Amino acid sequence: MNRGKRVLNSVIEQLSYFAYGQPGHCCLCSAPGRTCNGICPKCSNELTQQMASACKVCGMPLRSPLELCRDCRLNMYYFDIQRSAGIYEGRLRSAIRRMKYHGERWLSRPLGLLLSQVALAFCHADMVVPIPLGAASKKTRGYNQARDLAVEVSGKISLPLADILVREEVRDHQAQLNRLGRWQNLKGTMKTADYCNINGAQVLVVDDVTTTGATLDEAARALKHAGAENVFCVTLARTVRH
Ligand SMILES: [Zn+2]
Ligand SMILES: [Zn+2]
Repeated sequence: MNRGKRVLNSVIEQLSYFAYGQPGHCCLCSAPGRTCNGICPKCSNELTQQMASACKVCGMPLRSPLELCRDCRLNMYYFDIQRSAGIYEGRLRSAIRRMKYHGERWLSRPLGLLLSQVALAFCHADMVVPIPLGAASKKTRGYNQARDLAVEVSGKISLPLADILVREEVRDHQAQLNRLGRWQNLKGTMKTADYCNINGAQVLVVDDVTTTGATLDEAARALKHAGAENVFCVTLARTVRH
Protein backbone atom coordinates (compact mmCIF):
# COMPACT_ATOMS: atom_id res chain seq x y z
CA MET A 1 0.00 0.00 0.00
CA ASN A 2 1.45 3.41 -0.90
CA ARG A 3 1.91 6.22 1.60
CA GLY A 4 -0.97 8.34 0.24
CA LYS A 5 -3.43 5.49 0.64
CA ARG A 6 -2.17 4.76 4.16
CA VAL A 7 -2.66 8.40 5.19
CA LEU A 8 -6.13 8.44 3.62
CA ASN A 9 -7.08 5.24 5.46
CA SER A 10 -5.87 6.68 8.71
CA VAL A 11 -7.97 9.84 8.19
CA ILE A 12 -11.03 7.71 7.32
CA GLU A 13 -10.41 5.64 10.43
CA GLN A 14 -10.29 8.68 12.70
CA LEU A 15 -13.31 10.35 11.09
CA SER A 16 -15.34 7.16 11.23
CA TYR A 17 -14.46 6.70 14.87
CA PHE A 18 -15.86 10.12 15.66
CA ALA A 19 -18.87 9.56 13.42
CA TYR A 20 -19.87 6.10 14.63
CA GLY A 21 -17.57 4.84 17.28
CA GLN A 22 -18.10 7.08 20.24
CA PRO A 23 -19.31 5.33 23.36
CA GLY A 24 -23.08 5.28 23.35
CA HIS A 25 -23.51 4.59 19.62
CA CYS A 26 -24.20 1.12 18.29
CA CYS A 27 -21.48 0.15 15.80
CA LEU A 28 -24.01 -1.79 13.69
CA CYS A 29 -27.08 0.48 13.47
CA SER A 30 -25.57 3.76 14.83
CA ALA A 31 -28.48 4.06 17.28
CA PRO A 32 -27.61 6.36 20.15
CA GLY A 33 -27.99 5.08 23.68
CA ARG A 34 -25.89 3.86 26.53
CA THR A 35 -24.39 0.62 25.28
CA CYS A 36 -21.53 -0.79 27.27
CA ASN A 37 -20.08 -2.86 24.42
CA GLY A 38 -20.71 -0.81 21.27
CA ILE A 39 -23.64 -2.94 20.09
CA CYS A 40 -27.19 -2.00 21.11
CA PRO A 41 -29.53 -4.54 22.77
CA LYS A 42 -31.74 -4.71 19.65
CA CYS A 43 -28.85 -5.65 17.32
CA SER A 44 -27.43 -7.97 19.95
CA ASN A 45 -30.80 -9.79 20.27
CA GLU A 46 -31.10 -10.10 16.50
CA LEU A 47 -27.71 -11.81 16.29
CA THR A 48 -28.56 -14.16 19.16
CA GLN A 49 -31.82 -15.12 17.42
CA GLN A 50 -30.01 -15.83 14.14
CA MET A 51 -27.76 -18.37 15.81
CA ALA A 52 -30.32 -19.81 18.25
CA SER A 53 -30.60 -23.16 16.47
CA ALA A 54 -27.14 -24.07 15.19
CA CYS A 55 -25.19 -27.27 14.53
CA LYS A 56 -23.33 -28.26 17.71
CA VAL A 57 -20.04 -28.68 15.83
CA CYS A 58 -19.78 -26.21 12.94
CA GLY A 59 -22.35 -23.62 14.06
CA MET A 60 -24.35 -23.70 10.83
CA PRO A 61 -27.89 -22.40 11.55
CA LEU A 62 -30.36 -25.26 11.14
CA ARG A 63 -34.03 -25.05 10.25
CA SER A 64 -35.05 -28.10 12.25
CA PRO A 65 -33.82 -28.73 15.78
CA LEU A 66 -31.22 -31.30 14.71
CA GLU A 67 -28.11 -31.57 16.84
CA LEU A 68 -25.71 -31.85 13.91
CA CYS A 69 -25.77 -30.77 10.28
CA ARG A 70 -25.21 -33.24 7.46
CA ASP A 71 -21.48 -32.43 7.12
CA CYS A 72 -20.83 -32.89 10.83
CA ARG A 73 -22.71 -36.18 10.92
CA LEU A 74 -20.12 -37.30 8.36
CA ASN A 75 -17.40 -35.97 10.70
CA MET A 76 -15.59 -33.99 8.06
CA TYR A 77 -13.86 -31.24 10.07
CA TYR A 78 -10.49 -31.05 11.83
CA PHE A 79 -11.71 -28.28 14.16
CA ASP A 80 -13.66 -29.33 17.25
CA ILE A 81 -16.23 -26.54 17.49
CA GLN A 82 -16.92 -23.46 15.37
CA ARG A 83 -19.21 -20.58 16.34
CA SER A 84 -20.13 -17.26 14.73
CA ALA A 85 -21.81 -14.19 16.22
CA GLY A 86 -24.38 -13.93 13.40
CA ILE A 87 -25.22 -14.47 9.75
CA TYR A 88 -23.23 -12.61 7.08
CA GLU A 89 -25.98 -10.25 5.98
CA GLY A 90 -27.42 -6.79 6.66
CA ARG A 91 -25.69 -4.50 9.16
CA LEU A 92 -23.20 -7.08 10.39
CA ARG A 93 -22.04 -7.71 6.82
CA SER A 94 -21.78 -3.99 6.18
CA ALA A 95 -19.74 -3.42 9.38
CA ILE A 96 -17.35 -6.27 8.48
CA ARG A 97 -16.88 -4.87 4.97
CA ARG A 98 -16.17 -1.39 6.35
CA MET A 99 -13.56 -2.88 8.69
CA LYS A 100 -12.03 -5.08 6.00
CA TYR A 101 -12.11 -3.07 2.78
CA HIS A 102 -12.64 0.58 3.77
CA GLY A 103 -9.94 1.11 6.38
CA GLU A 104 -12.29 1.40 9.39
CA ARG A 105 -10.01 -0.57 11.67
CA TRP A 106 -11.57 0.92 14.81
CA LEU A 107 -14.50 -1.48 14.25
CA SER A 108 -12.28 -4.33 15.45
CA ARG A 109 -12.77 -2.95 18.98
CA PRO A 110 -16.56 -3.39 19.38
CA LEU A 111 -16.63 -6.39 17.01
CA GLY A 112 -13.71 -7.98 18.87
CA LEU A 113 -15.61 -7.60 22.11
CA LEU A 114 -18.61 -9.30 20.48
CA LEU A 115 -16.33 -12.16 19.37
CA SER A 116 -14.85 -12.55 22.85
CA GLN A 117 -18.37 -12.95 24.28
CA VAL A 118 -19.17 -15.65 21.71
CA ALA A 119 -15.87 -17.42 22.47
CA LEU A 120 -16.32 -17.33 26.24
CA ALA A 121 -19.69 -19.03 25.91
CA PHE A 122 -18.30 -22.24 24.37
CA CYS A 123 -14.58 -22.76 24.90
CA HIS A 124 -11.66 -22.67 27.30
CA ALA A 125 -8.47 -22.01 25.39
CA ASP A 126 -4.78 -21.43 26.14
CA MET A 127 -4.08 -19.01 23.30
CA VAL A 128 -5.68 -16.95 20.53
CA VAL A 129 -4.47 -17.52 16.96
CA PRO A 130 -5.47 -15.26 14.02
CA ILE A 131 -5.96 -16.57 10.50
CA PRO A 132 -3.10 -15.00 8.52
CA LEU A 133 -3.58 -13.05 5.30
CA GLY A 134 -2.10 -14.32 2.07
CA ALA A 135 0.80 -12.24 0.72
CA ALA A 136 -1.33 -10.68 -2.04
CA SER A 137 -4.05 -9.45 0.37
CA LYS A 138 -1.41 -8.12 2.76
CA LYS A 139 0.10 -6.08 -0.06
CA THR A 140 -3.18 -4.52 -1.21
CA ARG A 141 -4.90 -4.08 2.20
CA GLY A 142 -1.89 -3.41 4.42
CA TYR A 143 -3.45 -4.90 7.54
CA ASN A 144 -4.98 -8.16 8.67
CA GLN A 145 -8.49 -7.64 10.08
CA ALA A 146 -8.45 -11.14 11.63
CA ARG A 147 -5.33 -10.18 13.59
CA ASP A 148 -6.96 -6.92 14.74
CA LEU A 149 -9.92 -8.96 16.01
CA ALA A 150 -7.65 -11.54 17.65
CA VAL A 151 -5.77 -8.77 19.49
CA GLU A 152 -9.08 -7.55 20.93
CA VAL A 153 -10.23 -11.05 21.85
CA SER A 154 -6.91 -11.89 23.51
CA GLY A 155 -7.10 -8.68 25.57
CA LYS A 156 -10.72 -9.17 26.58
CA ILE A 157 -10.38 -12.78 27.71
CA SER A 158 -6.78 -12.44 28.97
CA LEU A 159 -5.15 -15.05 26.75
CA PRO A 160 -1.85 -14.72 24.90
CA LEU A 161 -1.98 -13.84 21.21
CA ALA A 162 -0.05 -16.46 19.24
CA ASP A 163 0.56 -15.38 15.66
CA ILE A 164 1.87 -18.79 14.67
CA LEU A 165 0.09 -19.70 11.45
CA VAL A 166 1.90 -19.22 8.16
CA ARG A 167 -0.01 -19.18 4.92
CA GLU A 168 1.18 -19.95 1.45
CA GLU A 169 -0.43 -18.19 -1.46
CA VAL A 170 -3.43 -20.12 -2.78
CA ARG A 171 -3.43 -21.05 -6.42
CA ASP A 172 -6.77 -19.41 -7.31
CA HIS A 173 -8.76 -16.62 -5.69
CA GLN A 174 -11.17 -18.22 -3.20
CA ALA A 175 -14.07 -15.87 -4.02
CA GLN A 176 -14.17 -17.17 -7.61
CA LEU A 177 -14.49 -20.84 -6.65
CA ASN A 178 -17.41 -23.06 -5.71
CA ARG A 179 -17.60 -24.93 -2.40
CA LEU A 180 -15.60 -27.99 -3.46
CA GLY A 181 -13.07 -25.82 -5.31
CA ARG A 182 -12.43 -23.74 -2.18
CA TRP A 183 -11.61 -26.86 -0.14
CA GLN A 184 -9.26 -28.24 -2.78
CA ASN A 185 -7.59 -24.87 -3.35
CA LEU A 186 -6.70 -24.49 0.36
CA LYS A 187 -5.47 -27.99 1.06
CA GLY A 188 -1.95 -27.95 2.50
CA THR A 189 -1.57 -24.15 2.32
CA MET A 190 -1.13 -23.50 6.06
CA LYS A 191 1.52 -24.53 8.54
CA THR A 192 2.70 -23.43 11.96
CA ALA A 193 5.85 -21.38 12.49
CA ASP A 194 8.98 -23.49 13.15
CA TYR A 195 9.57 -22.06 16.65
CA CYS A 196 6.17 -22.84 18.17
CA ASN A 197 5.45 -25.57 20.68
CA ILE A 198 1.74 -26.20 21.04
CA ASN A 199 1.77 -29.81 22.23
CA GLY A 200 -1.49 -30.52 24.04
CA ALA A 201 -2.70 -26.93 23.66
CA GLN A 202 -6.29 -25.73 23.48
CA VAL A 203 -6.30 -23.22 20.63
CA LEU A 204 -8.87 -20.56 19.76
CA VAL A 205 -8.68 -19.52 16.09
CA VAL A 206 -10.13 -16.13 15.09
CA ASP A 207 -11.32 -14.97 11.67
CA ASP A 208 -13.86 -12.46 10.39
CA VAL A 209 -16.14 -14.54 8.13
CA THR A 210 -16.84 -18.26 7.65
CA THR A 211 -17.83 -19.06 4.06
CA THR A 212 -17.41 -22.80 3.62
CA GLY A 213 -15.33 -23.44 6.75
CA ALA A 214 -12.42 -24.53 4.54
CA THR A 215 -9.98 -21.85 5.78
CA LEU A 216 -10.68 -22.59 9.44
CA ASP A 217 -10.41 -26.30 8.81
CA GLU A 218 -7.08 -25.94 7.04
CA ALA A 219 -5.85 -23.90 10.04
CA ALA A 220 -7.13 -26.59 12.42
CA ARG A 221 -5.40 -29.30 10.38
CA ALA A 222 -2.07 -27.45 10.62
CA LEU A 223 -2.48 -26.77 14.35
CA LYS A 224 -3.38 -30.37 15.16
CA HIS A 225 -0.51 -31.60 13.02
CA ALA A 226 1.75 -29.44 15.25
CA GLY A 227 0.32 -31.04 18.40
CA ALA A 228 -2.74 -28.97 19.42
CA GLU A 229 -5.22 -31.10 21.35
CA ASN A 230 -8.34 -29.08 20.55
CA VAL A 231 -9.02 -26.33 18.05
CA PHE A 232 -11.99 -24.00 18.56
CA CYS A 233 -12.90 -21.42 15.93
CA VAL A 234 -14.81 -18.18 16.25
CA THR A 235 -15.86 -15.74 13.52
CA LEU A 236 -18.06 -12.68 13.38
CA ALA A 237 -20.36 -14.00 10.70
CA ARG A 238 -21.04 -16.94 8.48
CA THR A 239 -22.69 -17.34 5.12
CA VAL A 240 -25.61 -19.77 5.05
CA ARG A 241 -26.23 -22.45 2.44
CA HIS A 242 -29.85 -22.52 1.26
ZN1 LIG B 1 -27.79 -1.48 16.97
ZN1 LIG C 1 -22.22 -28.89 11.34
